[in-house]
Amino acid sequence: MAWYTIEHACGHVVERRLNGTKVLGEREAAAERLAEGPCRDCRRRERDAAAVEAMAAAEDAGDWPVLTGGERQVESARRIRHEAAEQVRSWEHGVDPERAEVVVPLLLRAVARRDAAAWWNDRRGTDWTRTLRAELTAAELERVEGWTRET
Ligand SMILES: [Zn+2]
Repeated sequence: MAWYTIEHACGHVVERRLNGTKVLGEREAAAERLAEGPCRDCRRRERDAAAVEAMAAAEDAGDWPVLTGGERQVESARRIRHEAAEQVRSWEHGVDPERAEVVVPLLLRAVARRDAAAWWNDRRGTDWTRTLRAELTAAELERVEGWTRET
């Protein structure tokens, strides 16, 4: 292992320890490869920006309400709501596509009804299928075979 000074494509200069043998030129090759891309910080920033963009797109697509609450509360609740919707959508890859066709839109409708940031924050990490199912109206539940208020 040895330290290398790498000037990344983003312009940042970073000291990096690289593995590999000098004889085979592995470290030099790795250093060159790294230099072709942005540094870790810039990559992270790009990822974060992409995540925020994806979230905003999902909010638009789902026609979700602007959340109410304190600024930091809303920020975290938006992420949780986004994760919840992603979890619900992953249902579509479940065992029963026909059932998913009925269930997924109903659960996403429930997502769109909750606009208090606190509601989302209080339910962080829950099983969203179960949580959102409890949010369905009696009429909505009737549309899903085997789903009733009690079960
Ligand atoms: Zn950079």
